[in-house]
Amino acid sequence: MVGVELLRGVVALDGPSGTGKSTVAKRLARDFGARYLDTGSMYRAATLAVLRAGVEPESSAGADIAVAAAVQAGTDPGNPTICLDGENVAAEIRGLPVTSAVSAVSAHPVVRHALVELQRRIIAEVLADETRAGIVVEGRDIGTVVTPDAPLKVYLTASDEIRASRRSGQDRRAGRGGDHASTLLAVQRRDALDSGRATSPLRPAEDAVMLDTSELDIGGVLAALRELVRDRGLSWSRGPGMVR
Ligand code: C5P
Repeated sequence: MVGVELLRGVVALDGPSGTGKSTVAKRLARDFGARYLDTGSMYRAATLAVLRAGVEPESSAGADIAVAAAVQAGTDPGNPTICLDGENVAAEIRGLPVTSAVSAVSAHPVVRHALVELQRRIIAEVLADETRAGIVVEGRDIGTVVTPDAPLKVYLTASDEIRASRRSGQDRRAGRGGDHASTLLAVQRRDALDSGRATSPLRPAEDAVMLDTSELDIGGVLAALRELVRDRGLSWSRGPGMVR
């Protein structure tokens, strides 16, 4: 009988937007029976709370609202939910208002502190359940701050042009506009803010594997990640009917 291949521990996937991170993180988690955490969606939901309150994202009042926001992130890679005060906000957090304001909100140290704590709790809960596989976590500071002990850290990159065309394609398919030139500017602006902030800036962990996705399709990135998981000894098998 054939066993199921499962993940052990945490895979930390970091990098700027448009590198294919979300798509490959979800698929990798599904392939290895693991959970999935999209930390960007948590910063986006907190940002939505700030915008709904009509407060400036850069202000300390904005930081207070983001910290107090009741953000709940699901970890099913087949259905990754994100709720604010119990309301499913998955579609609204991808819109332009949130995308334009999220870097300012996520630069507040108090906001990062609150969300990193929440992310660590979610990860610990998954790892505490020995009958389950591990978790794939994606973001900007997963390998450097959230889980610096993760046994596999991968930092995805791609050229600005490629990342902008991927992003504008996604936006067009989702009916959110998607003009290449303005997307390129928006992507570069967000990267500059995320890399330039004082608290946990976007940067690779020293022991991260760098993976340039410019010339790879999703299947190629996924194949590289699967190989890394197996090379690190992070996959294990569970036969039918067996718990471990
Ligand atoms: O990944 P996504 O594009 O949804 O992330 C939205 C924003 O959330 C990023 O541009 C960044 O400002 C912030 N973020 C962060 N740390 C993370 C994940 C996202 O600061 N771990």
